[in-house]
Amino acid sequence: MVEKIEHIGIAVKNLKEANEVYEKLLGCPPYKTESVESEGVNTSFFQTGESKIELLEASQPESPIAKFIEKKGEGIHHIAFAVEDIKTEIKRLQKEGFKIINENPKKGADNKLVCFVHPKNTHGVLIELCQEIT
Ligand code: ZN
Repeated sequence: MVEKIEHIGIAVKNLKEANEVYEKLLGCPPYKTESVESEGVNTSFFQTGESKIELLEASQPESPIAKFIEKKGEGIHHIAFAVEDIKTEIKRLQKEGFKIINENPKKGADNKLVCFVHPKNTHGVLIELCQEIT
């Protein structure tokens, strides 16, 4: 079951600059910054009530974030939904005909298991499913 929007991911060119802007916007500093080497990204997280904003900067030219910005420019990159059991959700969505980009959930930022649903199935929006690692 999809529980809620966990966070919205925003692709940025320069994380340091974006952090300053979002700190002013939200009135609080990021509660966490983290590099995810497997994804080639540097991230920072802001808490806004129950929801979070994740800023993502490419840490290498091959990063999916670098490619995204090249194609579309900075902006909303993905919407992440919290799920209780990511493996069950993957099976359910595959049955419904969705293309899951990584069938084996991987460890993402912020202590989560994550997988992505291809945007061609979701009217252009990259969807992340994430499950808290307990
Ligand atoms: Zn995310």
